[in-house]
Amino acid sequence: MIDGNTRLTGIIGYPIEHTLSPAMQNAAFAEAGLNWIYVPFSVDPDHLAAAVNGAKALNFAGLNVTMPHKKEVIKYLDELSAPARIAGAVNTIQFDGDRLVGHNTDGQGFIDSLKHDAGFSPREKNALLIGAGGAARSVAVSLAMSGIRQLAVINRTADKALKLQESIKDNFPDCIVKVLSPDDEKIVSLQSESQLIVNTTSIGMLTNPGLPLGMERIGPSHLVYDVIYFPAETEFLREAKKRGAETLNGARMLLYQGATAWQIWTGRPAPIAEMAVALTDELELKGKVDGQSKPAARTNPDRI
Ligand code: NAP
Repeated sequence: MIDGNTRLTGIIGYPIEHTLSPAMQNAAFAEAGLNWIYVPFSVDPDHLAAAVNGAKALNFAGLNVTMPHKKEVIKYLDELSAPARIAGAVNTIQFDGDRLVGHNTDGQGFIDSLKHDAGFSPREKNALLIGAGGAARSVAVSLAMSGIRQLAVINRTADKALKLQESIKDNFPDCIVKVLSPDDEKIVSLQSESQLIVNTTSIGMLTNPGLPLGMERIGPSHLVYDVIYFPAETEFLREAKKRGAETLNGARMLLYQGATAWQIWTGRPAPIAEMAVALTDELELKGKVDGQSKPAARTNPDRI
């Protein structure tokens, strides 16, 4: 029940209609018996400052931040965590008294998903990263923080990949970072020497179908990850699976980034199992609404 003691959290984005976060965050508050609520807010970019300052004035406990505000919001914050600073993007704001602290839990979500769902540790491994946008930056920073040996970044727009290379090199001098254009012949040999291949581009979404990479050298020695979670199985994952690779989609990254945000706000361990069930239900609903087949088995929250 909402009353005078209810703590406020939410998510700001533009548009925000398709967010899956309220279902899992509110399920977590209910499970933990907390009188907290999580609400989605559509915030026009012109009103970002007013929205952040308004949330502060309204005594919010926390906010998630999604596209297109992840970069822009930084100028309204007092402090950044290391992953947020290096990635140059914030997806979680902690209202710590008068101070607004920006975090980036996307990368942590990705690493937690690798660990819990594939038993994969990035330490001393080689990774091929396709894309150099916001998701790529979070993933690259988290891989570098987790001790990856080599990152090969492939992106259509070279300039963005070079900027990502520079920030990783500046902050993680031991990490080898290579930049390649999508038609570089060296990609084939880099595929062979990588244990992890990650698509962070939007290629594979319903609105942007296709394959982000040639599949020639993908095989059973690879863990192939697509940060896209809708559709649950992109063409990239389907083709990788056919070639014997282990595959993961971005639903668990979404779950774990949300769990980390929840922990930052509440100071408690997040009820992951309940959040996973709520997220799976929401994905199923979204699948039905958008005319897709069910993206995941409702009965097994451990595997979305
Ligand atoms: P973004 O910043 O706009 O970056 C998009 C990336 O995709 C860029 O590297 C872009 O290349 C590339 N790209 C798009 N269309 C392309 C095309 N036709 N050919 C070649 N490259 C293309 O977007 P983002 O925020 O990183 O999001 C990317 C994806 O990650 C989305 O599907 C998003 O839903 C997903 N995501 C998932 C999670 C999760 O928790 N699972 C979290 C964040 C994002 P250029 O640089 O050349 O434009």
